[in-house]
Amino acid sequence: MSGTIHVIGAGLAGLAAALKLSGNGERVVLHEATAFAGGRCRSYYDNAVGMTIDNGNHLLLSGNHAALDFLQAIGTADRLVGPKEAEFTFVDLAAGNRWTLRFNRGRLPFWIFDRSRRVPDTRVRDYLALARLLLPQRGRKVGEAIACEGPLYRRLVEPLLLAALNIDPPEGAARLASAVIRETLGAGGRACRPLIAREGLSVTLVEPALARLEDCGVEIWLEHQLRAIRFGAERIEALDFGKETVVLTGDDAAVLAVPAYAAAALVPGLQAPNEFRAIVNAHFRIAPPAGMPPMLGALNGLTQWIFAFPGRVSVTISAGDSHLDAPREALARSIWNEVAAATGLPAELPNGAIPPWQIVRERRATFAATPAQDARRPGTRTRWRNLALAGDWTNTGLPATIEGAIRSGNSAAALLAARKT
Ligand SMILES: Cc1cc2nc3c(=O)[nH]c(=O)nc-3n(C[C@H](O)[C@H](O)[C@H](O)COP(=O)(O)OP(=O)(O)OC[C@H]3O[C@@H](n4cnc5c(N)ncnc54)[C@H](O)[C@@H]3O)c2cc1C
Repeated sequence: MSGTIHVIGAGLAGLAAALKLSGNGERVVLHEATAFAGGRCRSYYDNAVGMTIDNGNHLLLSGNHAALDFLQAIGTADRLVGPKEAEFTFVDLAAGNRWTLRFNRGRLPFWIFDRSRRVPDTRVRDYLALARLLLPQRGRKVGEAIACEGPLYRRLVEPLLLAALNIDPPEGAARLASAVIRETLGAGGRACRPLIAREGLSVTLVEPALARLEDCGVEIWLEHQLRAIRFGAERIEALDFGKETVVLTGDDAAVLAVPAYAAAALVPGLQAPNEFRAIVNAHFRIAPPAGMPPMLGALNGLTQWIFAFPGRVSVTISAGDSHLDAPREALARSIWNEVAAATGLPAELPNGAIPPWQIVRERRATFAATPAQDARRPGTRTRWRNLALAGDWTNTGLPATIEGAIRSGNSAAALLAARKT
């Protein structure tokens, strides 16, 4: 008998691990604490706006190869939409002007030599200075590696790193910023096309993954929270789900794909990130104006990115901890004023109100991407040979992203697949 692999946590890391393992012919059981899969990347029906929305706007890039392979495997790659070329439109909310960055497809960045494609008011040498981020950076902050000032920083580097690292960039780990730059700007426009799950995160990334897993014979147990693990000297011996205990024998193994704080509570002595940053999203039920780009970068306001969805306009504010306790109504109004100014939608509807809205504040959206927290990320392997770790907080070399979560799940699957050889 080849043994059973228990995957704990049905976020994207757990789904990716289960998919790879079942594809390798392993018997897999997936356990999820809540009533739904998807974790921090999911859709739900929201009464305030009267429609299904995502917990947060999620952006992928065409260079996110693990995420795209995952979508290919579950048959939904065509549900991601984005422009044909790598284009990003920005609006400066203070000055009122706008521009569109247009990267060329190849690795050689011809776009930086073309005033009509690059960031306004920047010079070629500003871009060359950015290359300093690509040097080895272990332990350094972004603010120690590059000058965090000037038009290139304010109009491109800051919005890019704030979105990718979910932290005020100067405080962020330069190692993670370096990985982001290498896999985006450094890889050329071909890797930088923005992609959005237009019909929603769950129908694009989560439900089809569950369906595929069921087709492959994976047992899926929702509302099945792992309470404790029984540890032997070299192997984990049992998984305690409260009402029942699963004893692990022979080649049985587990992937622990829960958030960092849940893993730290389950595995004694596990060093894991223990500081987090919030992301705030505002959703407004209103049709985006014709011609609005699928996503619009906003500078010098509360609003950072504005996304156009069918019948809805949604806003993302990364590193949004300072808005966690702000009164919801006032926050929604301030954000709506900025959206109206940026998109040309009316600041007030005829009845004086703003469109139906919802504010979603995810307090522990990602680990805080500082050098100190980055240094606390464990690898996939543990000292128990039948226990692997997965999750966006493990040491993927990337910030906490869908791409990192999926790569971590793939690594855990590869490690356990090798346990019998
Ligand atoms: C608002 C927001 C916006 C974001 N925007 C982007 C973006 O634009 N682009 C991007 O790439 N990434 C983005 N991210 C990050 C991305 O969502 C995460 O990196 C990714 O979803 C993490 O997946 P995961 O599987 O590692 O963890 P999780 O999604 O946290 O999954 C862990 C799962 O484990 C379950 N669990 C916990 N404890 C137990 C237990 N004891 N037993 C069983 N199950 C358990 C949880 O319920 C959960 O389902 C965003 C995140 C948020 C919150």
